[in-house]
Amino acid sequence: MAKRDYYEVLGVSKSATDAEIKSAFRKLAKKYHPDLNKEPDAADKFKEVQEAYEVLSDEGKRKTYDQFGHAAFDQNMGGGAGGNPYGSYGGFNTSGFGFDDIDLGDILSGMFGGGFRNKKSQNRPTKGEDVLYKMEIDFKDAVFGTKKDITLDLTESCSTCDGKGGFNEKTCETCHGSGRIVKQQNSLFGVFQSQTVCPDCGGTGKSYERRCTDCKGQGKVRKRKTVTITIPAGVDTGTQIRIKEKGEAGFNGGPNGDIYVEFEVRDDELFNRNENDLYLILPITITEAVLGCTKDVSTLDGDIKLTIPAGSQNNDRLRIKGRGVPIVNSSKRGDLYILLNVLMPTKLDKKQKKLFEELSETTLDDHDKFKKYKKYFKK
Ligand SMILES: [Zn+2]
Ligand SMILES: [Zn+2]
Repeated sequence: MAKRDYYEVLGVSKSATDAEIKSAFRKLAKKYHPDLNKEPDAADKFKEVQEAYEVLSDEGKRKTYDQFGHAAFDQNMGGGAGGNPYGSYGGFNTSGFGFDDIDLGDILSGMFGGGFRNKKSQNRPTKGEDVLYKMEIDFKDAVFGTKKDITLDLTESCSTCDGKGGFNEKTCETCHGSGRIVKQQNSLFGVFQSQTVCPDCGGTGKSYERRCTDCKGQGKVRKRKTVTITIPAGVDTGTQIRIKEKGEAGFNGGPNGDIYVEFEVRDDELFNRNENDLYLILPITITEAVLGCTKDVSTLDGDIKLTIPAGSQNNDRLRIKGRGVPIVNSSKRGDLYILLNVLMPTKLDKKQKKLFEELSETTLDDHDKFKKYKKYFKK
């Protein structure tokens, strides 16, 4: 099934402001939250809304999405189809990215009397944190794509204790296995109960007779890792690609987070880029412009023979179709534009000077522009 447009999912226009996006998200998150909405498709809708918000609320990701659509976020290095295997309604993860400035617990607290967060079991498998890796790449690599290794320090499940943090599991004595501590508080309105996550077991309800020293009881260790990434042809500064489940280790057996790689493309000495078109300034002599010529021009992928027509003007633009930047995940390419820069001679030898003098005795002013201005500028 085709993926719905993120703007359509949130019901906002393409030019929606951050505030409009946030407000649309809040409404829809409330509407479809699986704890509130018992319709069978609510979980999927909630997930869809959340995904759309993750992208559209982030300036860089939104820009990438506007340019490349869903394709930009679907790079799955591990192979296999998409789909989010974790959690009952996939991806609900307040600690993950995209929720930095919006807390679902707060949004929904009015309806649950603050119980929302405590309702969730801390034992549930949760996806690990996403990682953003900024990467500088050469102009040509951005245009044609390449493979690169990136090295980063990431957490992974501790192999000594199998990610548990200790050995010989037992029930946590502090919370007696519930993972929660219930406190009674007196207030003006009477006695009420509040629940907090057990600080000793972190909500798992379990503790260990012997703590794992390799991970200091964390169940995770930080390791330097090298990941090979495939940079698709056509990426630009600000483009992000996602490397699925290669990020920080998950919690309670949940999958790893993702790595987002964001590119910063170095300038090229000769070529300029605008979206998928390339621009090259080509200096030519006055006689080449006047008489026309053919020139060998180096493009990013090989030389071409360029015919410059007689009577070319300074700043004339010649278009070479399909020699621009490949469009990500498509077989199409932008175009290459050659901008003619007619250079006037600054030094003339005797012979050249004589030739120009001879030339100046002839009439060369039947150019349209001359005709137009003749009325105003009489000799
Ligand atoms: Zn406990
Ligand atoms: Zn360990």
